[in-house]
Amino acid sequence: MATPFRLYNTRTRTVEDFEPLVPGHVGLYVCGMTVYDDCHIGHSRAMVIFDTFVRYLRHRSWSVTFVRNFTDVDDKIIERAAEAGEDPLARAERYIANFHRDMRELGLDDPDLEPRVTATIPEIQALIGKLIERGHAYAAEGSVWFDVPSHPEYGALSGQQVDKLRSKDPGVGKRHAADFALWKAHKPGEPSWESPWGPGRPGWHIECSAMAWSTLGETIDIHGGGIDLVFPHHENEVSQSECAHGQTYARYWMHNGMLTVPTGRKVGGRATGDDTPGGDEPAAMKGKMGKSKGNAVNIDVLLREYPAEALRLFYLDTHYRSPLPFDADALPTSLGKLARLYEAREAAEAMGGEEPPDDVARSLGADAMRVLELARAFPSALYASLDDDFNTAGALGHAFELARAINRLSNHKKANQRGGPVVAPALAAFSLLSKTLGLMTLSTEEFQLEIKAKRLPRLGFTSEEVEGLLQQRAQARANKDWSRADQIRDQLEEHSIAVMDREHGSEWRVRL
Ligand SMILES: [Zn+2]
Repeated sequence: MATPFRLYNTRTRTVEDFEPLVPGHVGLYVCGMTVYDDCHIGHSRAMVIFDTFVRYLRHRSWSVTFVRNFTDVDDKIIERAAEAGEDPLARAERYIANFHRDMRELGLDDPDLEPRVTATIPEIQALIGKLIERGHAYAAEGSVWFDVPSHPEYGALSGQQVDKLRSKDPGVGKRHAADFALWKAHKPGEPSWESPWGPGRPGWHIECSAMAWSTLGETIDIHGGGIDLVFPHHENEVSQSECAHGQTYARYWMHNGMLTVPTGRKVGGRATGDDTPGGDEPAAMKGKMGKSKGNAVNIDVLLREYPAEALRLFYLDTHYRSPLPFDADALPTSLGKLARLYEAREAAEAMGGEEPPDDVARSLGADAMRVLELARAFPSALYASLDDDFNTAGALGHAFELARAINRLSNHKKANQRGGPVVAPALAAFSLLSKTLGLMTLSTEEFQLEIKAKRLPRLGFTSEEVEGLLQQRAQARANKDWSRADQIRDQLEEHSIAVMDREHGSEWRVRL
């Protein structure tokens, strides 16, 4: 049975009980990438949030149809391709491949459907035809415009007032400053398709109305995307779909906050061809990361230095609706937090013993009692957080608290021999965290290998060099040359490489 949850709805500006159109099923449409360049850490916030949201809903027995589109023809793609002297559709194709590579590397599942504009042209034209027929759109000089004053509810989602909108693009034959293009008349050098209004290509907003309609129907349960898309993109989608079908377009609007950079510079909205008049810049968009601003950090570059789970934790450790500041400390901090979780699990796995858990906890004392209490309460605490407007930061807070309690317990001498039964529910808790948030999915060994592969080069060492030094140290110890042995250990410690002496020899790890 699908379990109930609550969600903040941008349209009503309140947290609401989620009621699906079809019991047990969620139809989710998320605006995807405009593929003119590589995916940066700002873009992938939405990708990780909605991937995790879908993962969680499925864990809670919802059946989900998750649709995320590609904008593969657009002003920006055409512009960039012209600069590079290449075919715009070939450029889009290349960046779609790069995007898939990055998302796989990030550990994301593919959406159920990934429609593309260039493969949705008949549906887009059908929708435009319907809008003209119903008196909500008009053709002029080979373009088709949406007639904004024909839809009195325009502005309800974003709170914009039509009469205050300024026009960015006068547009040939456009009747009202707020009207926006559904179909753009062909210009030389641009990809174009035949249409009843002459050759041309779709405007940006109509594509999502058409793709949502063709994949999920006239009304969808949840429409997602970045908060920067509320106006004009989502506002326009609402008008297009509701005027064409006479039905509510999206029952819930779920928007993630922007990733912000410390410069505090104001940057534009989604870089795309946009003929829609601008409104006021929402406060949530101040300092947003953007390709065109030269402050973008690409995902593939970050993944060379950090495990994918460190990025995932970085995104999920802040509520999805809040702005997410990104600076030089952000990923090191997330990696440190991730390492604490893995360390706690490793410590718990090392504990043995077979007595009844409550008896052991009582005899080990307050720290053991705390672990038992937190671990047993963990599933309901995690579900309560995630069911309340998908509060991943709250859920992670419970995991960090449990990890700290385990680390405290592991300092007790007897915990290693007898603590096993006390930490058993904690191990189950970590496994629940893996299933729901996609964190701690690796074994300790896999995690350590990834850390060594990605962090060691930054410390100026190779694994071979570290192993070589440890062999020299083992030799020095065999020769009882303690000062040389200590000197090597200190040299490694200075470079954040920890040496642990075990029964069978020395091990080493990168300190995080
Ligand atoms: Zn869209």
